[in-house]
Amino acid sequence: EQAEWKLLKDADTQTADGHHVDIAANIGTPDDLSGVIDNGGEAVGLFRSEFLYMNSAELPTEDEQFEAYKKVVEGMNGRQVVIRTMDIGGDKHLPYLPLPEEMNPFLGYRAIRISLDRQEIFRTQLRALLRASNYGKLAIMFPMIATVDEFKQARAIFDEEKQKMVEAGNSVADNIEVGMMMEIPAAVLIADKLAKYADFFSIGTNDLIQYSFAADRGNEHVSYLYQPYNPSLLRLIKQVIDCAHAEGKWAGMCGEMAGDQIAVPILLGMGLDEFSMSATSILQTRSLIKRLDTSKLQPLVDAALDAESNEAVIELVNQLDIKD
Ligand code: PEP
Ligand code: MG
Repeated sequence: EQAEWKLLKDADTQTADGHHVDIAANIGTPDDLSGVIDNGGEAVGLFRSEFLYMNSAELPTEDEQFEAYKKVVEGMNGRQVVIRTMDIGGDKHLPYLPLPEEMNPFLGYRAIRISLDRQEIFRTQLRALLRASNYGKLAIMFPMIATVDEFKQARAIFDEEKQKMVEAGNSVADNIEVGMMMEIPAAVLIADKLAKYADFFSIGTNDLIQYSFAADRGNEHVSYLYQPYNPSLLRLIKQVIDCAHAEGKWAGMCGEMAGDQIAVPILLGMGLDEFSMSATSILQTRSLIKRLDTSKLQPLVDAALDAESNEAVIELVNQLDIKD
């Protein structure tokens, strides 16, 4: 198996019936890039930029950030790199940025909520990203967007910084896509509205599952509620993909589920455009996708959406006829 996967390193990701999807990678630091290239990643679907902040004794400067983003964008050689603005808070803390003590940090002051409040931090990051856009194909996305207003505010700040840089005579790429993570159920329910403003969606299932089932993703006492195939979650995912497509936008997934071998046939059947996963899952997933025929996945999707439980959906996928 491993040998067969190696042969797929430079192959296009195509289904048995010739339909192309992108397999991208999730990374945390520029050093992770070699793993992406060694495993044949077609893009970076999620660069968790908060690791830059976490691996530093103080707020990283614009120049430090620029160097890190440039390295990744340049290293991917024209392939798309989606950089997520900092997702601090929840379980991720910075010694130099005291956050309030909270009863429920995962429901608290985090991610885009901090960025919109502490705009000097956010604007510094956006300027570093804008400068890096000159070195390849950069896209950015905002984490934990819950409302249309949050997205509009974040995007307006981005547009302002871009405008200022252009007026100061600095070059920036003019095709930078600005998208958002879909990881809060309230946002999923108004995905049709958000799709008018965002250039793309990236579904963050790690958080979307936690918030949908009201079950802390790190709490072992409720881990039975981590149910990625539950029709409730599948319906949310389908809603995101359909709303993106209705506005001519693309939808990806960067949560763990994107590299899950049970989930992939269902996601492919729903029309997910980009699968972003840890680099070590790429070749196995490319091999699976190669053996799937999208024209036969519609009945699976329909049955899964109509099932009653996570287990029932696993059973449906196991019955699927997958070529050798
Ligand atoms: C997610 O929530 O699925 C996600 C990709 O973001 P993170 O795991 O960094 O919260
Ligand atoms: Mg998340």
